[in-house]
Amino acid sequence: MQDIIQLLSDNIANQIAAGEVIQRPASAVKELLENAVDAGASEIKLIVNDAGKALIQVIDNGKGMSETDARMAFERHATSKIKSIDDLFRIKTMGFRGEALASIAAVAQVELKTKRDEDEVGIYIEIENSLVKKQEPIAAPTGTSIAMKNLFFNVPARRNFLKSNPSELRHIVDEFIRVAMAFPEIFFSLNSNGQEVFHLEKGSLKQRIVQILGNNYNAKLVSVQERTDYLDILGFVGKPETAKKTRGDQYFFVNNRFIKSAYLNHAVMSAFAEMISKDSFPMYTLFIDLDPAQLDINVHPTKQEIKFEDEKIVYAFVHSAVKHALAQFSISPTLDFELDASIQNLDAVNKPISEINKRDASSSSLFQTFAQKNQAHFVEKKSELTHWKDFYNKSTTSGDIEIDKYSTKNAQAIPVFEKNVENEKPWDNSDLLQVHNAYVIVQNYKGYLLVNQQNAHERILYERFANAITGKSIATQQILFPSTIEFAPADVIIINELLPDLTILGYRLEPFGNNTFVLQGTPADMQHSSEINAIEKLLEQYKHFSSDMKFSKREKLLRSMSLQQSIKAGTSLTQKEMKQLVEVLFLCDIPNTTPTGKPTYMSFKKEEMDRMFGRLI
Ligand code: ADP
Ligand code: MG
Repeated sequence: MQDIIQLLSDNIANQIAAGEVIQRPASAVKELLENAVDAGASEIKLIVNDAGKALIQVIDNGKGMSETDARMAFERHATSKIKSIDDLFRIKTMGFRGEALASIAAVAQVELKTKRDEDEVGIYIEIENSLVKKQEPIAAPTGTSIAMKNLFFNVPARRNFLKSNPSELRHIVDEFIRVAMAFPEIFFSLNSNGQEVFHLEKGSLKQRIVQILGNNYNAKLVSVQERTDYLDILGFVGKPETAKKTRGDQYFFVNNRFIKSAYLNHAVMSAFAEMISKDSFPMYTLFIDLDPAQLDINVHPTKQEIKFEDEKIVYAFVHSAVKHALAQFSISPTLDFELDASIQNLDAVNKPISEINKRDASSSSLFQTFAQKNQAHFVEKKSELTHWKDFYNKSTTSGDIEIDKYSTKNAQAIPVFEKNVENEKPWDNSDLLQVHNAYVIVQNYKGYLLVNQQNAHERILYERFANAITGKSIATQQILFPSTIEFAPADVIIINELLPDLTILGYRLEPFGNNTFVLQGTPADMQHSSEINAIEKLLEQYKHFSSDMKFSKREKLLRSMSLQQSIKAGTSLTQKEMKQLVEVLFLCDIPNTTPTGKPTYMSFKKEEMDRMFGRLI
């Protein structure tokens, strides 16, 4: 028998190893940005073409490399960041494994330009398939530029695995934000296909957060700051009113490295409990700094999980630090910028309400849990509002009221619509009754209908929008004084994607450069007309649905718009409006549920009522 084991060629071994470090363009972006940070740059520019598939280039003004180092850098396990195993427990740099450049060189065509301050000339190196193609002196500014072209040009199987450009670009933007957020003292820019998507001047963390996440957070950030011997927590959380329906704006960094941790996320969320509704997510950008020896560095660097020596302590720290910050903020509210300086200096404004409150707020014992009654933001827990499913369950036990078509077994699936609405429909001409500004009671021959006004309107709008997409677009009402809206850079990508459909649906939104759009018109029959607010809420709602991958972009947009434009509970309706609502509802194809499957009305039979009151046997 012949021996069968062979050594893999360097080339294949490199490509296999590269696969672990560089999975997609965004992984290369992360590695190159981190190298630039490690090189001490104060300015880092990222340029991508074709979502990084054609080009990823990072230009920094860091310390550069010597000629020998420039050659060495592309060898596997070549690093300047650790020398001995002990260094691993002191590591402060972003990289240390010496794998990134070797991996990149294995799967792309690389062009490196670099020069140190002390050198007269720089060095230019071209590498392909891990082989040096060209090397020559070059005139260059101090710093490093690495361009990688045609990622996976030599590994077609991987190239085919890449997602669409918007999807890969999204990943790149995410990585870019994670690095840029952690280093506000560094200038960052991101240019995609010749367009500048981000331009982040150096500044404070607060400024960086606002630059990246948008102006809405201006004056809405609460500072979190606790320093102890064991660890430091620094950063910001959004005030409760900025909580959103999407999880997006949440960032944890451990020793400046972005991490994902459901456990620590829970620590923050529970600190917000009672201040925000259960289905909303507060913004946070928190930096935990601790002795690297307290971290398990063997967790793979491209993974975003992290292992702490003592996870429970970190949880308790994070939880208390956020609670503490929120408690302080609620007692001495952050002053609005508009406030006159002389007013700001008044004791009454400056000082917490009472000394006792002040003690409660500022005693920084981290493990102290805060008694709920000491928090101004403590909202008394409402007697659990009955969810409609509960309502359903209760109703069924108290008599067999005809509601089984709202099969709640699968709230997502639209219940099969019984075509016998005709039986429900013919209400007589008597007045309708609105209760709690949320429900409309409609009498009909069989008994009465209890209509949820928002759900009903959502259904009506959904069908109207869906019809507009397939048929005649919705008329636009020109705005007299067009207003500009500035979006967070990441949101511009979404808006651009939705623009054609938004136009059909009656919005006239025109790109104005620099993440700004001009709103020229809104749907002619839109109910509430705080136009800009409406667009922002729509986007918010859309992003919320976007976490739900199973729907098309268009379906998400339709659902977002109908939800966002629907008349909400709390809106008082006139007789005419109520009648119209109910009438149009029953003209819908599927009048009995919202697009997401919530019931729009319940039907109560007189017979059943009579039975309940012992009037019928
Ligand atoms: P690691 O970052 O883990 O050390 P890399 O493969 O990312 O490994 O980089 C290898 C080495 O190349 C680094 O240790 C550093 O010395 C050098 N290097 C990489 N990028 C840069 C840069 N932008 N500026 C200066 N030196 C760099
Ligand atoms: Mg590196």
